[in-house]
Amino acid sequence: MINYHPDQHLLSLHAKGELPLSMSIAISAHAELCPHCQQQLDQMTIALSEQQFESAVKTQSVDTNNNQLDALLEQLLNSTLDTLEVEQASTVDLIEDNSVSIKGQHYPLPKVFRKQINASWQGIGKVSRLRLDTGEPQARASLLHIAANGEIPEHTHKGAELTLLLAGEFSDCYNTYKPGDFMLLDKEHQHSPKTLEGCLCYTIVDAPLYFTKGFSKLLNPIGDLLY
Ligand SMILES: [Zn+2]
Repeated sequence: MINYHPDQHLLSLHAKGELPLSMSIAISAHAELCPHCQQQLDQMTIALSEQQFESAVKTQSVDTNNNQLDALLEQLLNSTLDTLEVEQASTVDLIEDNSVSIKGQHYPLPKVFRKQINASWQGIGKVSRLRLDTGEPQARASLLHIAANGEIPEHTHKGAELTLLLAGEFSDCYNTYKPGDFMLLDKEHQHSPKTLEGCLCYTIVDAPLYFTKGFSKLLNPIGDLLY
């Protein structure tokens, strides 16, 4: 049962293709694990396609020639295809050859990671990290593995930290988290995650703050755990 989800604003920015890659990966991966958010994304995508089609129709001049009509049909077809792909993606489970192995554990990954895994693990003790290159100078995106009975020393962040739990479980002084849980922590937040059975997470450290107007609201003290 997933308890923590990206908010509506993040979902709609994702549907519009306006998020930086690191954040877009997190939303896609969450949606693969969360039918509820996937359904919302599908609806947003369809609504956006319809809006685009309507505005394209409205901006057509009276002397629409065949070329313009062709282009319009092409656009409609493409947006319909996109929508179909989104719907298909939501019904397909994790593919088998898209996985990582670390310390004898084998983890299937959401499909969105397929093109991102081209580095190797680095680690100290029970903590291993695989850095993903998203082309963003400040946001650092990684897969993070903590072996059974491992923990990360208490820490704070300069910026925001996003954690999407992909497999296993971990807990901090606030809660216990399950696969699919999507957590944004602000820079004031201190925590030291511990795991009994081991876990694999996708993390963004110093997640860019510019991507959402909703962020200032999220950073209000509505509790130490934010989403
Ligand atoms: Zn969700």
